[in-house]
Amino acid sequence: MADPVLSTDGLTKRFGALTASDGISLDVRPGEIHAVIGPNGAGKSTLIHQICGGLRPDHGRVHLLGQDVTALNTAARARAGLGRTFQISALAMEDSVLQNAMLGALGRSGRPWRFFGRALGDADLRARAEDCLARVGLADHLHARTATLSHGQRRQLEVAVALTLEPRIFIMDEPMAGLGSDGSAKLTRFLDRLREEAPILLVEHDMDAVFALADRVSVLVYGRVIATGTVAEIRSSAEVREAYLGE
Ligand code: ADP
Ligand code: MG
Repeated sequence: MADPVLSTDGLTKRFGALTASDGISLDVRPGEIHAVIGPNGAGKSTLIHQICGGLRPDHGRVHLLGQDVTALNTAARARAGLGRTFQISALAMEDSVLQNAMLGALGRSGRPWRFFGRALGDADLRARAEDCLARVGLADHLHARTATLSHGQRRQLEVAVALTLEPRIFIMDEPMAGLGSDGSAKLTRFLDRLREEAPILLVEHDMDAVFALADRVSVLVYGRVIATGTVAEIRSSAEVREAYLGE
């Protein structure tokens, strides 16, 4: 089997008496969408924060492309290939779609932010940003003010921003939240194509999306992975049904 793109090895995180991550080991393989599901408070976001570098685990390691990144901060992990998306607040709402994408591309270029005004005239940077916007289907909206985009289009833009950094994996925490059924269906089709760019670790509550997209599903309950398997395996597991699906 191909080496995993990302793996966690025994991630453990306590908040006082609460063990939010209890020895979480999972991996994401090339080309796959690995979904993480679980009830509210199960520790899904805590897991994502430890993978992305915003939260330091008490124990355990995170490996990205064979490199131990546990000691790296968020920015260094992004440079190492971790594509964190769906941080809506990170978009500059009054700026254009193109400017937001160029901001991402600029981050990759390593140039100081104070040169941003001049960098907006940089043809290479602009070409890269336009290419990423075209790949997410926003080619017709380059000059739209970001605030005028629909919820779904903003999520496409967030993916485009991540794409400018040429990520080797996408990490997403509940991208379908607040989208409604049409929006979720559209984003589901979009993520299905996005996996050709890089594999996805997808935390998601929307079971229709998870069952449509996931190659593998891990079920998290009280900070512990109680099962990992294909959609069919997870759906037919008596333990999972009892602990989570409530069937
Ligand atoms: P999920 O994303 O699955 O809903 P979270 O990872 O957000 O769950 O939270 C897991 C548990 O850890 C919850 O009980 C939550 O209240 C607790 N928790 C999360 N972050 C903190 C924190 N910074 N300090 C204390 N408790 C926290
Ligand atoms: Mg959460």
